[in-house]
Amino acid sequence: MKSGAQSAAAAAPTTSATSMSSRPRSASLSAPRRSSAGKNDGGARVRVAVRLRPRNAEELVADADFPDGVELQPELKRLKLRKNNWDSETYQFDEVFPDTASQKRVYEVVAKPVVESVLDGYNGTVMAYGQTGTGKTYTLGKLGEEDCADRGIMVRALEDIMADTNPENDTVCVSYLQLYMESIQDLLAPERDNIPIAEDPKTGDVSLPGATLIQLKNYKSFIGLLQTGEANRVAANTKLNTESSRSHAVLLVYIKKHVKAKESSNENGSRNSRAPVIRRSKLLIVDLAGSERVDKSGSEGITLEEAKFINLSLTALGKCINALAENSPHVPTRDSKLTRLLRDSFGGSARTSLITTIGPSPRHRGETASTILFGQRAMKVENMLKLKEEFDYKSLCRRLEADLDKLIVENERHVKAVVDAEEELHDKLNEARSRVAEAEGKLASALGEMSLERSRYQKDTEELRRQALHHVNDIKSLEKKLEENAAGLNSQKEREIHAERIKHEEEITNLADNYKRQNLNLSEQLQIERTLRLQLEEELSAVRSSSKQVPEQCVADQLTELKERLDKERLTRENLELELRMLQNKENYSTGSTEAIKEKQNEEILNLKKKLDEESKQRKKREEEIRNLRYQLAQSNEDAEIKRIEKGGSGRSSFGSDSPLNLHRPNILRDTINGQRATIAKLFEQVGLQKILSLLESEDADVRVHAVKVVANLAAEEANQEKIVEAGGLKSLLVLLGNSEDETIRRVAAGAIANLAMNEKNQELIMGQGGITLLATTANEAEDPQTLRMVAGAIANLCGNETLQVKLRDEGGIKALLGMVRTRHPDVLAQVARGIANFAKCESRAVSQSGHRVGRSLLIEDGALPWIVANANNESSPIRRHIELALCHLAQHEVNARDLATGGALWELVRISRECSREDIRNLAQKTLNASSVFQAELRRLHVSY
Ligand code: ADP
Ligand code: MG
Repeated sequence: MKSGAQSAAAAAPTTSATSMSSRPRSASLSAPRRSSAGKNDGGARVRVAVRLRPRNAEELVADADFPDGVELQPELKRLKLRKNNWDSETYQFDEVFPDTASQKRVYEVVAKPVVESVLDGYNGTVMAYGQTGTGKTYTLGKLGEEDCADRGIMVRALEDIMADTNPENDTVCVSYLQLYMESIQDLLAPERDNIPIAEDPKTGDVSLPGATLIQLKNYKSFIGLLQTGEANRVAANTKLNTESSRSHAVLLVYIKKHVKAKESSNENGSRNSRAPVIRRSKLLIVDLAGSERVDKSGSEGITLEEAKFINLSLTALGKCINALAENSPHVPTRDSKLTRLLRDSFGGSARTSLITTIGPSPRHRGETASTILFGQRAMKVENMLKLKEEFDYKSLCRRLEADLDKLIVENERHVKAVVDAEEELHDKLNEARSRVAEAEGKLASALGEMSLERSRYQKDTEELRRQALHHVNDIKSLEKKLEENAAGLNSQKEREIHAERIKHEEEITNLADNYKRQNLNLSEQLQIERTLRLQLEEELSAVRSSSKQVPEQCVADQLTELKERLDKERLTRENLELELRMLQNKENYSTGSTEAIKEKQNEEILNLKKKLDEESKQRKKREEEIRNLRYQLAQSNEDAEIKRIEKGGSGRSSFGSDSPLNLHRPNILRDTINGQRATIAKLFEQVGLQKILSLLESEDADVRVHAVKVVANLAAEEANQEKIVEAGGLKSLLVLLGNSEDETIRRVAAGAIANLAMNEKNQELIMGQGGITLLATTANEAEDPQTLRMVAGAIANLCGNETLQVKLRDEGGIKALLGMVRTRHPDVLAQVARGIANFAKCESRAVSQSGHRVGRSLLIEDGALPWIVANANNESSPIRRHIELALCHLAQHEVNARDLATGGALWELVRISRECSREDIRNLAQKTLNASSVFQAELRRLHVSY
């Protein structure tokens, strides 16, 4: 087997029997076995081995006493040829086989490398050269039928070739020929004789077209062919009367081997799908005729000419090898048919191994030497190996055709698919086009509609814009008109409203002022009346026992009743005033001043006017009654005085009366009674006011006393008051008050001042002339309750003037008033209470009407609150009612509420609201408590349900 042969060859270097091709003596031995077609693979020297045949029987006998003619040194691959007994020559060969060398080893060393090379695509030659009978045929053509170990190179080579080829793809063909006397005979078809040698003029390749070429199917068929060939050789030689030793036997083995495409590669080393490659190679196994010369052999019946012919081929081979060995420019290849057949084997492109066979007999020393020399010369022949590779165009063509068919089929299908797709696309395209056309039509119509619509919209917009412009202009003109109208209306209305308001205010103010004056007058008159009544009662009681009392009692009763009614009326008026002020407040604080409010106010004003008219009527009625009563009283007094005087009692001076406010009329009456009224009136008329006033400064104390009394009496008359003031009486009275040591003068002067102080104009004069300071000094210094009562009455009157309040307070008026409570006299306390009530009332009015004052009450500032609280429930009803009214006024204003609450006034107010005998005051207190958030919060805090 090839692999086994290869391993044996690989192991050969360790022994003497190594492969000739494995020797490193020539680069050709290690040359690659594969290369490109037609490419030179480098030099490969002809390998030469020598084999020694064992002695045969004859030689064993004949040469028994002689040593061999050669001495082998196989381990050195050397051979010593004995020249004589003492001399020998040594030759180096590629391999030296001793007589014991096996057939197998000889094959593996000599032939196997050539066989493998042939299987790789190179031509190869194995040739045996030697004297007849030295074992050439034994080495090459032994069939080994009896002993397989005897099988020669031909059989072993074909074994390996058949094993290495594939009968399906590869072909192995053989021709077996014999060359004798320059004639080629076909050993496989003996009838074919003298077969011509054909040469390719281009390549120089030699072929034998006439020879039988038998393709081997298997190894056994080859053995049969060899046997046939051998038989035909023997028969031919017999027929020709020749010896086989004189003919050359040539076995030609043609191998065509397919190389798989994958084994091919391009120059870059990358694989490609090249066409399959066929390697065509040829193995020549040549069993040469015996190398001894024919003529020398002494063959009988052969002419010299025949002998030349028999030797021609071998001689020509020798010449060629010589020429090749000597690198002769001319190699006579064409000299013989053998050299022509072996043209590629020596100096050609084939791998060539030559085995030279020699015999041991010293008798054939010359032939042996000749063979050795032939071998030595052959060793010098250098061949150039060349791969015989060609593309397998046929199979390539077949494959390509098959591929083409496949592609045609695929193409046809593809074309069909493309055509179908194109048709489909065409249909779709048409459909799409129609849709596009349809859509375009719709779009065009839509655009047309849109265009129309847009123009419509534009027109509409334009129209709307025009209208809007008109509207804007209209609105502007309307606005302008409205503005003008509004301006006109506003100014007109405002003017009307303003005028109306001013008118209302004036009316209210006038009403209030009138009412106030009337009220003051009435209350003063009432007080005067009351004082007078008290005096008269006292006086009457003195004469009651001796006179008739019936009319007096009657009058007193009527008086009491009248007084109570007057009080009630006065308080009603005050409440009405309060309500009026509250309404005014509302009007002042009202920002809207709408028609409704105005109407309401007008209504209220009308109601008030009605009430005032009613009050006025009532008042006139009362005044009439009072006048009647006065007349009756005067009558009574006159009667009583007359009686007293008749009894001889001087009585109290009329000027000694305790109330200046009560002084004038009783004194006048008494003066009248005492004859003084006429005197005073007479004095006033005859002496004149100036003279009377000048008497006030008289050095005589009695004169001053009388004078002041006269002035005081005059001052009690309202008609005289202006005259007295104009004449400087007020100033004189003030001087007297300030300077006089006399208590009576001070008391009477204070009374006169008090009377004058009822007049509003005089109030300002009194204040302007330092009256408050003088009154305050007197209040602090005086001890007499009547003096103090006069002083308190004067201050109380001044307290009723709201324009003088601050000045009054700043000059100590309030403190002076409060200081006088030290006397505890009820008349003084009543005046003090009246003053406080007046002050609180004015303060309240000032705050509510003008809003001048924003701070808490000056009364509270000056410490009046504790006394007010302490006397709010005084047992004297005049004191109590004044205080109750004062509290109600103070409580009107939230700014005072905290002080009132903490000062205990809250409880008094609660009491007033619940217990006050007068319903109007009770209601006022209730209203005030309800209106104050501070009071409400305080009451809630103290869990007082109100
Ligand atoms: P040739 O072909 O060279 O004329 P042969 O091959 O016919 O010689 O051999 C001659 C004889 O020698 C044959 O009988 C052969 O069997 C025998 N012979 C040759 N070589 C050997 C060998 N190496 N071993 C044994 N016998 C051999
Ligand atoms: Mg032979």
